[in-house]
Amino acid sequence: MVRLMKRLLCALLFVGAPLVAISDGQTKSESGLELAALDKTADPCTDFYEYACGGWMKNNPIPNDRSRWGRFDELQDRNNQVLHRILDEAAAKPTGENQKIGDYYASCMDESTINAKGAAPLQPLLSKIDALKTPNDLAPLVAELHTIQTNVFFNFGSEADFKDSSLEMAIADQGGMGLPERDYYLRDDPKSAEQRKAYVEHISKMFGLLGISEASTKAEKVMALETALAKGALDVTTRRDPTKIYHKQTPQELQAMTPQFQWQRYFDGIGAPPIYALNVTEPDFFKSLGKILASSSMDDIKAYLTWHVVHASATILPTAFVNENFEFYGKTMTGAKELRPRWKRCVQYTDGDLGEALGQAFVKETFGPEAKADTLKMVHDIEGALEKDINSLTWMTADTKREALVKLKAVADKIGYPDKWRDYGPLKIVRGDALGNSQRANAFEFHRQLGKIGKPTDKSEWGMTPPTVNAYYNPLQNNINFPAGILQPPFYNAKNDPAVNFGAAGMVVGHELTHGFDDSGRQFDARGNLKEWWTPKDAEAFNERAQCIVDEYSNMTAVDDLKLNGKLTEGENVADNGGVRLALMAYLASSAASSPKTLDGFTPEQRFFLGFGQIWCESARPEVKRMLAQVDPHSPGQARINGVVSNMPEFAKAFSCKADAPMVRKNQCRVW
Ligand SMILES: [Zn+2]
Repeated sequence: MVRLMKRLLCALLFVGAPLVAISDGQTKSESGLELAALDKTADPCTDFYEYACGGWMKNNPIPNDRSRWGRFDELQDRNNQVLHRILDEAAAKPTGENQKIGDYYASCMDESTINAKGAAPLQPLLSKIDALKTPNDLAPLVAELHTIQTNVFFNFGSEADFKDSSLEMAIADQGGMGLPERDYYLRDDPKSAEQRKAYVEHISKMFGLLGISEASTKAEKVMALETALAKGALDVTTRRDPTKIYHKQTPQELQAMTPQFQWQRYFDGIGAPPIYALNVTEPDFFKSLGKILASSSMDDIKAYLTWHVVHASATILPTAFVNENFEFYGKTMTGAKELRPRWKRCVQYTDGDLGEALGQAFVKETFGPEAKADTLKMVHDIEGALEKDINSLTWMTADTKREALVKLKAVADKIGYPDKWRDYGPLKIVRGDALGNSQRANAFEFHRQLGKIGKPTDKSEWGMTPPTVNAYYNPLQNNINFPAGILQPPFYNAKNDPAVNFGAAGMVVGHELTHGFDDSGRQFDARGNLKEWWTPKDAEAFNERAQCIVDEYSNMTAVDDLKLNGKLTEGENVADNGGVRLALMAYLASSAASSPKTLDGFTPEQRFFLGFGQIWCESARPEVKRMLAQVDPHSPGQARINGVVSNMPEFAKAFSCKADAPMVRKNQCRVW
């Protein structure tokens, strides 16, 4: 499956989170709120999350094939049912524009053909690895593996130059590790040690399935090599700072950092256009990689490469490989109890590899021009609210305000789906060749990325497929992006009371817009260039206010005795707090708010907060709570709701909370 390098996309929720059965139990109400989702026995001023979501959590247990189950997952599941039908029809009649998606999906579903082939389709690659003689031969082989997105040792691709974002440049980034994040290799708590032991056992079992001798010894060698890579890598929190992952270098400078790796042979191998400069995100990682290559035996390197070949393809190999992959990545790491049905997985893989071919059919069925126009209107309202907010800030000087407004005016709004669909023309999809289809799709995407190097940035391109239930801000392009997949109930419904729509979809819009002004996004200017446009005094005032948010969330518990990482989640929390405030301002300024009335027993302000609360209802297993707290820049649903409302006097007023109520923080934080 295509794995895009997403360093800077500020998404609404975790990109790569385990996608999560079905329950479209919208209880009819005057306002569009789901009254059955509430727990009216709870006190909104004590725990607003329980009040807004208690009923939902009780009525929606986590399905066995999920580690986490929330409103986003519910909607994604409904979208996937639409995709399922489209793909079943395409598979039955794979002609014309449906050939690629139909044959891809049918091949993925054909488990018996996949099982009959066994691991044979991997053999050509495994033989090449086996034939490696000296480290000098490594670069062309790494190039071949990277082409099919088996990302050994590091990641390579294209991204806009942070300091001149109108141009794409090559980028070499840390990578080559099978655990979610570098700290998984280095933490010394018992839980992390347990996970590492399970990881080594998993590698060993995968080797066993390939019929490799001395599997456990080799698995230990792989672990040692990945641990060495981790030691040279940056952790996920540090990587949020764009200045820490931008180092423009010449290929000669990169070569000097890693003398043991023949970069020109690698560039030739991947078929890169001429490279004059590239972003070597972390020079220290590449220096460390050089030393690792110099000190590792050829046998260790072969074991490492073999592991990554089988790992990268595991989900599309015979059943035994799929099951073992699930045992570790699904059960051990995220707590899911059973593997998702095959069709759900194949829908997901088709979306990953041919998303804009599949997305066209999805959009035709689900997203009309009215939905696009309605959403755009809301986006404009919220942009207007941010303008008002910036103008009224007491902590920002006129100079920085002027620049902030220039940036705000330059934000481009992208809604629903791309204006121009991606052409998969040359990509060959062959019925009955599931692994080959996946590898060719990966190569197609890799070459598409390489083709951008040295060319002007295409800001019309989308980083998410149309059926995706998510949204993002791209700081290098200064645009906000809302796929058709999320512009549906419970996020948006034209029939709903506007207060509910502003609380839900409006908050999503405000969240993405705020990302242009969070700890990371604020470092980019109106054109998406990494450039200081704040006066030092204003930057300091921002940091002081943002620190209040960091401290607030750092005190919240993720699972057991593990707290949230306030610094990792800073940008998302700032975006949540700013997003809800902007959406409320926009609602109050709208014509809908001019004649306030009570619906379903709630005032307009109460419905606004409940509309917001209801999109974040979720339940999660302890394993995935732990993982997300360690890698996800987003806070869990409960924190996203209570953390925000407890900062808002407007909330306390709406629900008549007493000054000492738990949902009224003594020290209320506010950035935007
Ligand atoms: Zn976000």
